[in-house]
Amino acid sequence: MQRIAVLTSGGDAPGMNAAIRSVVRTGIAHGFEVYGVLQGYRGCIDGVMKPLTARDVGGIIQLGGTILGSARALEFKTEEGRRKAIREFYQRGIEGLVVIGGNGSQTGAYALTEMGFPVVGVASTIDNDLTGSEMTIGVDTALNIALEAIDRLKVTASSHHRVFLVEVMGRDCGYLALMSGIAGGAEAIVIPEVEVNPESIALEIEHAYERGKSHGLIVVAEGAKYNAQTLASYFREHHKDLGFDVRATTLGHVQRGGTPGAFDRILATRLAAEATEQLAQGRSGVLIGLLRGEITATPLSEVVANPKPLDPKLLELAKVLAM
Ligand code: ATP
Repeated sequence: MQRIAVLTSGGDAPGMNAAIRSVVRTGIAHGFEVYGVLQGYRGCIDGVMKPLTARDVGGIIQLGGTILGSARALEFKTEEGRRKAIREFYQRGIEGLVVIGGNGSQTGAYALTEMGFPVVGVASTIDNDLTGSEMTIGVDTALNIALEAIDRLKVTASSHHRVFLVEVMGRDCGYLALMSGIAGGAEAIVIPEVEVNPESIALEIEHAYERGKSHGLIVVAEGAKYNAQTLASYFREHHKDLGFDVRATTLGHVQRGGTPGAFDRILATRLAAEATEQLAQGRSGVLIGLLRGEITATPLSEVVANPKPLDPKLLELAKVLAM
């Protein structure tokens, strides 16, 4: 194998650029020529890719987002789409691929390996929902950004005796909400994995008020059945006597674009370096992640077949700590 390619796919995550830089430079050190594919799997199908030199990836380690761009490519879910991508690779003499991305992206990577094209995945998503990696690239930075906002909202909430509902990202996965709720000292956490009704949340806040709290902080994942605005409307309509004023804030994409912190830069650099090492050793079909402090390779077949559950004990802990 002499020529490999790298792409970023799915939602952008802080640290993706550090991973691209590491693939390019460690790839070159292994003797590969490295191509960058633009716009994820879309660029594979359309053949939008270019050689990257060590200098091309200079000055990007500290940047959020991804210099290669990312896109959702429905066509890649079809065999015909993937066949087109493989044709584009072979036309350029590219014989291996590193896919930096989350769950959907690694499902695409697995589908490609099943068609005989060597791929190594690198675990990167702010959702932290990938089996095969306890922490994924981007989640630490996204958590810190959410936390900074939560800390500020808590200060103003205390001053005005308010309830703040803070909506953080997480379409299907409540990891960010759960962890930022624990780290931010939330009174309640609402996540997609556990169904709650608005009434029980209102009661929790009422009880917090009775226990003498000067504020109420509720962290809500965007994919929960009731989002922050819906819960706020419910409280205003049915609980005028809540004891607090109610405000809702949606953090949205602010959580994505941040400058990657040290943890994400180092994680990205190490995972991506292992990805090129695997290709250099003639291995593929694995996801490179972090398990018990070690850089590990987990078969993509296992990664895509097993969803990563949230630890229910953490939700219980959050409830105890809100006393
Ligand atoms: P994030 O968790 O940050 O949103 P993700 O990798 O899970 O990232 P998705 O939008 O789910 O993001 O997937 C990205 C791309 O991966 C899709 O646009 C599609 O091209 C490809 N993909 C997703 N699922 C499949 C599949 N079942 N087969 C082939 N390709 C897929």
